[in-house]
Amino acid sequence: MILTVASGKGGTGKTTVAVNLALSIGESRVLDCDVEEPNVHTLLHPGAVKSETVYLPTPVIDKDKCTLCGKCAEFCQFNALFVGKKGVLVYNELCHSCGGCKIVCPENAISEVGRPVGQTHETDTQGHHLVYGELKIGEPIATSIISAVKKHIQQDAVNILDAPPGTACPVVETMQDSDFLILVTEPTPFGLHDLSMAVDVVRELDIPLGVIINRAGIGDDAVNKYCEEGNIPILLEIPFNREIAELYSRGVPFVLEMPEWTERFREMYNEIRRIMDGRR
Ligand code: SF4
Ligand code: SF4
Repeated sequence: MILTVASGKGGTGKTTVAVNLALSIGESRVLDCDVEEPNVHTLLHPGAVKSETVYLPTPVIDKDKCTLCGKCAEFCQFNALFVGKKGVLVYNELCHSCGGCKIVCPENAISEVGRPVGQTHETDTQGHHLVYGELKIGEPIATSIISAVKKHIQQDAVNILDAPPGTACPVVETMQDSDFLILVTEPTPFGLHDLSMAVDVVRELDIPLGVIINRAGIGDDAVNKYCEEGNIPILLEIPFNREIAELYSRGVPFVLEMPEWTERFREMYNEIRRIMDGRR
């Protein structure tokens, strides 16, 4: 089972939800796909981690074979190649590693080398298997690290994925193949705006979804109305609460100190299972 926790914008409490859900339901795999700013591990406090570098194939030009015909640059949709008068320049950061230039080169002048773009880290902590990715600073393409993290999904386990914020490619890469999407929002006009964009993406992917309203009570009821009109289940409302905020600021998942919330997260998990069973 793959449960993905996402939100239309950052700072809504998506990671808090993912971690508290994992701690409430017991043994599970937690995969932090927010590879530009992973922070699940700051709440789960793992010990030793096993790290692996992620490489992306990137073209290298053999000057002796290249005739400067320009076919590779013409093919590249990402403007990662420039054919000048004296040679071909490769802009590594723009390359999406599609391998197309190597195929179209008539002189067989292009080979590929692995370029390190980030790392995955794997560890066991508090009864959970945690995997998180870290995109190397300066590298713009997060999806390669996300797919490396997602390789750790185990179909016969409960996998909880913490998605990056927003609705761009890294989010779609994370959401794909999920069995259920939990969208975390807050009851404000900004929250509603970003939630509606995230809902559009999830519906396009045809994945069942539910909403968690975090910091309930700070704004209005527009999110509730939106969910009611769109037939979107509100799975849980977490109130704007000083104790929860203080625990978060100390890096403590609130279910550890407020056990009544463990039961609420468990009930939510059972509700998700019921929704999924109803679709089968
Ligand atoms: S397609 Fe091959 S031969 Fe032509 S410019 Fe590119 S690398 Fe050189
Ligand atoms: S591998 Fe694809 S993206 Fe990278 S330079 Fe070649 S054609 Fe462009």
